[in-house]
Amino acid sequence: MSMTVCKFGGTSLADGNNIRRAADIVLADPARRFAVVSAPGKRFSEDVKVTDLLYACDKECAATGGCGEAFARIRRRFLSIVDELGLHFDIGPILDKTQEEIERNRNADFTASRGEYLNARIMAALLGWEFVDAKDIIFFNEKGAFDEKKSYPLIEERLSRAKRAVVPGFYGTGADGRIKTFSRGGSDISGSIVARAVNADLYENWTDVSGFLACDPRIVKSPEKIEVISFKELRELSYMGANVLHAEAIFPVRKGDIPIKIKNTFRPEDAGTLILPSKKYTPHGNIVTGIAGKKDFTVIFLEKSLMNSEIGFARRALSVLEKEKINFEHMPSGIDTLSLVIESRYLQDGVLDRLIEEMKEALAPDYIRVSENIALVATVGHGMAQNIGTSARLFNALSEAGVNVRMIDQGSSELNIIVGIDNADYEKGVRAIYHEFFEKN
Ligand code: ASP
Repeated sequence: MSMTVCKFGGTSLADGNNIRRAADIVLADPARRFAVVSAPGKRFSEDVKVTDLLYACDKECAATGGCGEAFARIRRRFLSIVDELGLHFDIGPILDKTQEEIERNRNADFTASRGEYLNARIMAALLGWEFVDAKDIIFFNEKGAFDEKKSYPLIEERLSRAKRAVVPGFYGTGADGRIKTFSRGGSDISGSIVARAVNADLYENWTDVSGFLACDPRIVKSPEKIEVISFKELRELSYMGANVLHAEAIFPVRKGDIPIKIKNTFRPEDAGTLILPSKKYTPHGNIVTGIAGKKDFTVIFLEKSLMNSEIGFARRALSVLEKEKINFEHMPSGIDTLSLVIESRYLQDGVLDRLIEEMKEALAPDYIRVSENIALVATVGHGMAQNIGTSARLFNALSEAGVNVRMIDQGSSELNIIVGIDNADYEKGVRAIYHEFFEKN
């Protein structure tokens, strides 16, 4: 029988009603054997996520030695969840113990992880499933990265003993034996890890939207939904800011060739988005799958005659960035030119001037120019490689909209074309590209 690991996000589990809805979804398909849960999120827009309340506990502990005030809100949230569910689950003593541990441990990660811990205990009680603590199966190495060699066999072994289980997301055990969390939104990563470890057929990620849209709905009204997308395409898009899923969540399942399905807890009848490994993906009708972008980049443009035959030029340019601990987004190059595209936020407070001076010294360029306030727009789709004239259409659309293209970078995969345009043209540029590929004909 096929096996699904399903993960539910914070909004999907924000209160008792939502938790019940999530539990009904879990039980509707017997293939769903393992559920990974987030902490309760926001119930309404001004609400505070339990994880943020927990960080407040940590602050209160640091300031006063206790967290009575902040924890009282958390206690109320969980008590009302259990109450709304009408569950015979005595959470009171668990909450007392949690508060006591938070105050004793004084470990921000431990504190932050308790939302997932408590929610998973509740979900397990509601489903009548086993609770398997992430601290016993997910481990981090000395560098703070997920330790797959240690974790995968343990997860596999532990979950093979449980017929059905609920696992809290977001945390595991660090190399020092203390609880450690992933970065914010990290329950997506936990779900992906569990799916990979048990070699699931599908990793379902239940959230509060019906999957990915072909474009930012704040820029284009009601853009098309993306029904199928490849891991590679998603990587290009999520990296540019289409954040439905934690960017790191695709790696564990991708290695195991396990598809991800993004589904909406509040509209389970919607198709959602299926994310497929390249092997299982056949390009569909659309040339372009999605458009994403981000503002506020700086481009450092370097020119030097015979740059192409100067061994080590690019390495030296990158060493300057490395020394300043700055990463770059793109590095388009020509025969005698090299551009470095960097997020402007890294270049504040005199860093840019220092970089320019260091580059002049290390590279002796003939010419160096800086363009600020640049937005990048990535147009992504496997179909682009097969369709002659795609880039002509894209550039035509931009020029007809009066958008000046300041930089072009086409990845060697032919999967995407990235253009650099002025920040001020960003929305106009995205709209023009969307219109060209999705609204014409
Ligand atoms: N609860 C954590 C957060 O708010 C992790 C998660 O929901 O994925 O970031």
